[in-house]
Amino acid sequence: STPVATFCALLTAARMGVLVKGGDVLESLGEIRAVAFDKTGTITRGEFTVDMFDVVEQKVQMSHLLYWISSIESKSSHPMAAALVEHAQSKSIQPKPECVAEFRILPGEGVYGEIDGKRIYVGNKRVLARGSSCQTVPERMNGLKGVSIGYVICDGDLVGVFSLSDDCRTGAAEAIRELASMGISSVLLTGDSAEAAVHAQERLGGALEELHSELFPEDKVRLVGALKARAGPTMMVGDGMNDAPALATADVGVSMGISGSAAAMETSHATLMSSDILRVPEAVRLGRRARRTIA
Ligand code: ADP
Ligand code: MG
Repeated sequence: STPVATFCALLTAARMGVLVKGGDVLESLGEIRAVAFDKTGTITRGEFTVDMFDVVEQKVQMSHLLYWISSIESKSSHPMAAALVEHAQSKSIQPKPECVAEFRILPGEGVYGEIDGKRIYVGNKRVLARGSSCQTVPERMNGLKGVSIGYVICDGDLVGVFSLSDDCRTGAAEAIRELASMGISSVLLTGDSAEAAVHAQERLGGALEELHSELFPEDKVRLVGALKARAGPTMMVGDGMNDAPALATADVGVSMGISGSAAAMETSHATLMSSDILRVPEAVRLGRRARRTIA
């Protein structure tokens, strides 16, 4: 292989907005047979809106609840966190991250923090199990379609519920169809609920071949491994801290440059410098061309 040809191909990739970390990555790109996409922040924009936020059975005051969760969430970089902080601010509540003691990120679940002497969990239905008592979820939360549902547990008690929604990125469906036309199958790997995964699939016109939901970071690693064994060289595209181990496991891990986490960028082999998901099939085409000219 000639260094000049490799250099030119890397430069072409960079010009189209894909930072490829070396000639070997470029070659691997050309061999990809399957792509695993993260959902939140990758297939979707990662810009949530809060559709509903309620106190459960008037157990606490709304202003207290908003103060607690926005203070805790302002310490998180999850896309859902930003939406919840903004929601509190729109109700004139200012978060105070400095008042949060014992902050912890719970991958695949949510966050934990202590504020005003209260022990608070914010996250999906997995945090419900962290309360001491049996938690009754309000009736109206069942059958909500296409949204991500969240819960707030305060000192072992379910005190708040909320729902969030997020749109698919422009070009996401087209990118997946494009990959299919190149003989590459696409699957979805998400930490979010099955309902949210199905909703995304509907918005994509059913373009994805498989949906896997409620995954922990290690589940994403396992599924990328299974895809490699079954389909051949596999790409993983993701933005989150929770995607980093799977990005490292894939033959080519691709991170989202603008909106993604530092952990994802560090472990990935290539980075999309814009949020244009259509660059994914383009990068594979470039890899295919490069293999022909370099080899
Ligand atoms: P993904 O990016 O694959 O959707 P994550 O592992 O980041 O997955 O998150 C999985 C789920 O955990 C989210 O869909 C959400 O329900 C919950 N979650 C994670 N972080 C937070 C947070 N900071 N606040 C509220 N919920 C969260
Ligand atoms: Mg994500």
